[in-house]
Amino acid sequence: MELKEIMKEAGIVGAGGAGFPSYAKLADGADVLVINGAECEPLLYTDYILLQKELPMVLAGIKAVLDYAKIPRALLCVKEHTAKCLRLADDTKLAERIILKTLPDVYPMGDEISLIYQATGRVVKPGNLPITAGVIVYNVETMYNVAAMSKKSEPLTMKWLTVAGDIPEPIVVKVPIGTSVAELFERNSIIIPEEGYTVLDGGPSMGKVIDPERAVITKTTKGLLVLPNDCEAVISKFIDGEKSVARAETACCQCTRCTDMCPRALLGYPLEPHKMVRTAKQAATVMPEMVLSATLCCGCGVCETLACCQGISPKAVINEYKALLGKNKMRYVGKTEVSPAVEREYRMIPSERWASVLGVAKFDKVPKFVGEQSYSRVEILLRQHIGAPSVPCVSDGEFVQKGDKIAEAAEGLSLPQYAPISGKVTVFDGEKIVIDKVNE
Ligand code: SF4
Ligand code: SF4
Repeated sequence: MELKEIMKEAGIVGAGGAGFPSYAKLADGADVLVINGAECEPLLYTDYILLQKELPMVLAGIKAVLDYAKIPRALLCVKEHTAKCLRLADDTKLAERIILKTLPDVYPMGDEISLIYQATGRVVKPGNLPITAGVIVYNVETMYNVAAMSKKSEPLTMKWLTVAGDIPEPIVVKVPIGTSVAELFERNSIIIPEEGYTVLDGGPSMGKVIDPERAVITKTTKGLLVLPNDCEAVISKFIDGEKSVARAETACCQCTRCTDMCPRALLGYPLEPHKMVRTAKQAATVMPEMVLSATLCCGCGVCETLACCQGISPKAVINEYKALLGKNKMRYVGKTEVSPAVEREYRMIPSERWASVLGVAKFDKVPKFVGEQSYSRVEILLRQHIGAPSVPCVSDGEFVQKGDKIAEAAEGLSLPQYAPISGKVTVFDGEKIVIDKVNE
C-alpha cells in the first residue's frame, strides 16, 4: 500500500489542529517538509515530551513522508527550550535529509504561516495553501502516528496529551482516543473545584471550553487545562461576539495597535483589524474586500488579549465575519504579493510575556510523563476530523478487539475509525460508537 493510502487507512489527522485528514496534505510540488514542534501555547508540553521519549519514531515517520513525496529535506522545528532539553543545537543533522531548526521562544510561532516564514523565509501567499510555497507542514505527533502505522501496522487509537493548569502536578499521558475526561481526571487525582474553574480542550489562547463530565479525548486533543475563571485566558472565552460588534464602533480610539501587533499583518497580510472594528456594523457593504480578509486571521488573540487598551475584541468582530463568510462559502480574494514588515522581528511576543498576559504563567511547569494508561470505556466520535463523518461498520452488541475497524471513511474527504480497546459495541448512528470492556 502507498503511504498516502496507509495514512488514510490509519485514520490519521493533524494531531493538534482542526483535524484535517493528513493524507490529503500529501501533494506533489513540495521541496521542504516542515515539522511543527513549536508548541507555542503556554502550559502545553506534549510534543516536548513526545520528542524526548520517541524521537526515533518521529524521525521514521518523517523519513517515510520524505521518501514517498520525494521531498529533498525536512526541518524539525522546535522552540529553543525543547532543543535544550533534547541537548541538540540549531542545524543539527538528525538523520539523512532531516535537520533540527530552533525557533525563537515567541507567540504564535506554531501558527503554520508564521512557522513556514521563520523556518524557510518563504511567505505563503494570502488565501493560499502551504504547498503553493513548496512546503508541507505536519505536527510532530502526526509523524509519530505515521511511523506507528507504517512500521507496526498500528492504526490511530491513542492520543498523547498534557493535563495542566491550576492542579498540583501537571502530567503528559498517552490514553485511548475516546477516554472520558472525567475518568482521566479521577484516575490521575485531578479535582476540579465545584465553582470558579473552567476546563479547556487545547491551549489557553486557542483552546475550547468543555464540560469535563461529558467531554471525551479526540484525535485533536493536545491538552486539557484546568483554569480559574478570573484569568484572562478564561475571560476571553466568554466574550460575546454580538456585544463586541456593538461596542467596537463606539469605544475604539483607532490607535491601530491591534493591526500593528497582528502576527499575520506583520507578515504583510492585508489584515487590518482596526479597520474592521471601525466599520464593524457596515463593513460588509462599504469595504467587501476588507471583510474577505477576515479569513486570513489565525485566531491567535493577540489583538484582543494584548494589543487593545479599550477592552475591545477585534478577534470577536472578525469571528462574526468569519462565520458569515463560512456560511456563504466565501474565501479571501485580493492582494497576494506580500512581504513581511521590517518591524516584525521587534514585535514578536516573548512566550513568558504571553503566558503572563493570559494569567497562566504561575501554572507553567514541565509535566511529569506518566506513560500509557488503559480505560474500560471509550466513546469514539464519528466526527473528529474535517470532512464527512465516518460510517459505522459494526452493530450494536458486537464484540471488537483493540485495533479492529469500527467505522469506514465516507465518500470524499473522510477517515475510518478503530477500536482503542477490546469490548462490546453500542452504536449511536451519526454520532458516536461506545465500547465497553467486558470482564472475563
Ligand atoms: S486574532 Fe487578531 S492578532 Fe491574531 S491574526 Fe486575527 S486579527 Fe491578527
Ligand atoms: S487596539 Fe483597540 S482601540 Fe486600538 S484600534 Fe484596535 S480595537 Fe481600536
